[in-house]
Amino acid sequence: MRVVPIPCLTDNYAYWLPELGVVVDPSEAAPVLDVLGGAALRAVWCTHHHHDHVGGVPALAARFGGLRVYGSGRRPIQGLTDALGDGDRLDGVEVLSVPGHTLDALTFVVDGEAFTGDTLFAMGCGRLFEGDAAQMWASLQRLRALPDTTRLWFGHDYAARNLAFTGAIVPTGRAATPPPVAMALERATNLFLRADDPTVAAAVGAAPGVETFAALRSRRDRF
Ligand SMILES: [Zn+2]
Repeated sequence: MRVVPIPCLTDNYAYWLPELGVVVDPSEAAPVLDVLGGAALRAVWCTHHHHDHVGGVPALAARFGGLRVYGSGRRPIQGLTDALGDGDRLDGVEVLSVPGHTLDALTFVVDGEAFTGDTLFAMGCGRLFEGDAAQMWASLQRLRALPDTTRLWFGHDYAARNLAFTGAIVPTGRAATPPPVAMALERATNLFLRADDPTVAAAVGAAPGVETFAALRSRRDRF
């Protein structure tokens, strides 16, 4: 499936899915409209309620009559039309509830493409604004169970910073590249997905699992 990244704000990504007429996480409307180039927008998928992911929704809803706006509904999103929960499916799209960064965080998976918002980044994960470490670690374990070939599309471009962070703990030899990244590579090189790996646990001096995850997250917060 064709996925067109749309750089927004400083380091955000929205995504245009032309075959579905869908935009993911439009933080602002103008760059989205530029990329659409007159194509019809049918729906917006919101991974969570943060303004730098949904700020463009009202302007897009005003422009495209009948626009469907999907999100969790557990936190307010202006213009939301359809609330989704874990395991919901819409037209071949699988919705995963992945709380941690926020309690309303969703990942959308369709046709081997996964839109992870601020839950999973290249070599990183989102900060714990609303959830706790155990919740986020559980969410990341669900994501890492996606098939190897799943293409990951992240909510921000933090690859360079996360590469430096990773290199300071357990170097992986990976490069900082723009999305997408295959799950097989992410699972092997993202320390936050490897918190139960004894090598990573030893590097941060914590027990494998949630303790190592929490130690990594707190180090990354100060990095
Ligand atoms: Zn966020």
